[in-house]
Amino acid sequence: MSSDNKSIHDFDFNLICEYYSSVERQGPGSPEVTLKALSFIDSLTPASQIADIGCGTGGQTMVLTQNTSGHVTGIDLFPTFIDLFNAQAAQLKLNDRVKGVEGSMDNLPFENESLDLIWSEGAIYNIGYENGLKEWRKFLKKGGFIAVTEISWFTENRPDEINKFWVDAYAEIDTIPNKLAQMQKAGYKPVAHFALPEICWTDHFYQPQIAVQVDFLKKYAGNKTAEELVENQREEARLYAKYKEHYGYVFYIGQKL
Ligand code: SAH
Repeated sequence: MSSDNKSIHDFDFNLICEYYSSVERQGPGSPEVTLKALSFIDSLTPASQIADIGCGTGGQTMVLTQNTSGHVTGIDLFPTFIDLFNAQAAQLKLNDRVKGVEGSMDNLPFENESLDLIWSEGAIYNIGYENGLKEWRKFLKKGGFIAVTEISWFTENRPDEINKFWVDAYAEIDTIPNKLAQMQKAGYKPVAHFALPEICWTDHFYQPQIAVQVDFLKKYAGNKTAEELVENQREEARLYAKYKEHYGYVFYIGQKL
């Protein structure tokens, strides 16, 4: 990559970071859904070691920490998100039990068989669901749990427009039975799964972005990258409203056998 390209890339990176730092969550979800997924995991103690991978600014990590008694490590690639994460942890006086660390999900800083629970909302797609399940398994103790959200098809047949949009964005998008089979093949007992309610996309994800988009476009008026970023988000929200019966996020909870 030439240095010119690198600086353009860095600029995009900073813009994306700034955009998403302005909202509470960087993916669809809600505190209620985090708690529901947690309700399937019954083995945690104050000694438990938990990792939240692709934690973003930590919306769901704080809920996780407040509702468990163990130690939680949040991992994210974006330093700005980790700074916001640790500031939030300090503000909530949770910083003795939760810590944000900069790092990549394909090179995690954990010992083998050291974790009781791996959590990851709206993030495993970055290395692929199947690959992530397989790669992260070694970090779990035997009997440890994994809980991830993953985009999934709810129908067998989809209109071309939405099928193409998601296959282009993430070729691994698949139906719930196929995702469950992949989890089982990767060496987990599929303990539970449930589709996230629409409100996780609307009220908790797209809605808070509307005001951010207006401010962002004002601040970066005439900036093509900023305009494209906002346009992409608006298009995704438009498609969701039109085709939401065909797809959504699903929580998949598994236990290492
Ligand atoms: N879990 C948060 C954020 C989801 S967005 C939420 O639900 O709100 C996906 C997150 O994955 C982003 O914060 C992004 O920075 C992070 N990410 C992307 N690639 C990554 C990688 N290779 N390693 C670690 N984090 C990554």
